[in-house]
Amino acid sequence: MTIEKEFAKDLIRFIDNSKSSFHAVVETKKYLTENGFNEVKLEEKWKLEKGGKYFTTKNNSALVAFVVGEKNLTETGFRLVGAHTDSPGFRIKPNPEITADNRYLKLNTEVYGGAILNTWFDRPLSIAGRVSVKGENPLEPKEMLVDLEKPMLIIPNLAIHMNREVNEGFKFNPQLHTLPILSMINDEFEKENYLVKLIAKDLGIDEKDILDFELYLYATEKGSLVGLNEEFISIGKLDDLAMVHAEMNALANAKNKNATNVAIAFDNEEVGSKTKQGAGSPFVKDILKRIALCEGLDEEEFLIALEKSFLISADLAHAKHPNFQEKSDPTNIPVINEGPAIKIAANQAYTTDSTSAAIYEGICAAANVPVQKFVNRSDLKGGSTIGPISSSQLPIRSVDIGGPILGMHSVRELGGVLDHHYVYKSFLEFYNL
Ligand code: ZN
Repeated sequence: MTIEKEFAKDLIRFIDNSKSSFHAVVETKKYLTENGFNEVKLEEKWKLEKGGKYFTTKNNSALVAFVVGEKNLTETGFRLVGAHTDSPGFRIKPNPEITADNRYLKLNTEVYGGAILNTWFDRPLSIAGRVSVKGENPLEPKEMLVDLEKPMLIIPNLAIHMNREVNEGFKFNPQLHTLPILSMINDEFEKENYLVKLIAKDLGIDEKDILDFELYLYATEKGSLVGLNEEFISIGKLDDLAMVHAEMNALANAKNKNATNVAIAFDNEEVGSKTKQGAGSPFVKDILKRIALCEGLDEEEFLIALEKSFLISADLAHAKHPNFQEKSDPTNIPVINEGPAIKIAANQAYTTDSTSAAIYEGICAAANVPVQKFVNRSDLKGGSTIGPISSSQLPIRSVDIGGPILGMHSVRELGGVLDHHYVYKSFLEFYNL
């Protein structure tokens, strides 16, 4: 097997295990620990060593890993890559049990982020996330992760005979049409608190100890390589776990120890980033400041280090769709497996400017990685990403890039095997500069 396919298979394994942003953080911690990184906690005093490898988490759904450089920060600045752990989907509401005709038990959900709703129909689904359990002190509930694993839910489609316009563009109502069915109800069925009971049983705890939860649906079908030559990666959450996987691998494998290298996995990008663990919060700036303070920098020297820093904001890009050719820009046409795309927007929805694009192009050239450009059609409004939001907290030079994919925000997206490795190689080169 080629190294690119092996790397893509490792990405599939990583995403299959990352069933919620909490699980993605656990997987990342496991990988980093196996590669010699030590955890430092935000609520404790730090003592960092030159050349030391560390990571810390925020809300257990965001993570920052870093390797302290041998050279002074005022000389090198920070080398940062940023990505995000969350993906669009459905979150389960409190008191979720709803019955239909006293025969079906459904769960009440709300949409998280910009999911393509129709991709969630007719797929075996399960539940994963975080459960908050009674602790010794009300201020410190215990946290447990849950993954029910079993394909136990489904959102069935309506037959075309009852919905003739479905192929002409049907507007789904997320309060009515996308609620997953969990079970049939029989006479002995206790539907009160059914979900909490199920989770308590899975975790082996008393249901009365479950105080609250943040649970999400996920599709249980595993990811796979597809295409005649296995050139594509078909899996959910490529946006943005592919970039988390690439940055963490690059950070762990970088050999040059001069600069302080940082890999960031924010949470909540898909809902606007304005949370304590999102790119709209100062938590990363605070972490960089603590690294600087541990190195003995003063306030001004920290600001100098920031001026010398560079951020690659890594989220995915849109490849030109072979069946929707008219949706892409006429002259900037990213194609799958032809390299990462630099994302550019006049309205600054991406942070890229000509200087930062030139820097990333130089990095790709040095790494022997082809590079493409993505710009929205002038009559289409594109998405945004972590770059511009983190710029409001961290005013440093930054470029927005991503591997080009199809079907962004579908429950199953399509990326390129070569692209994933190209992106990794570009990050490795950046960290090794
Ligand atoms: Zn994204």
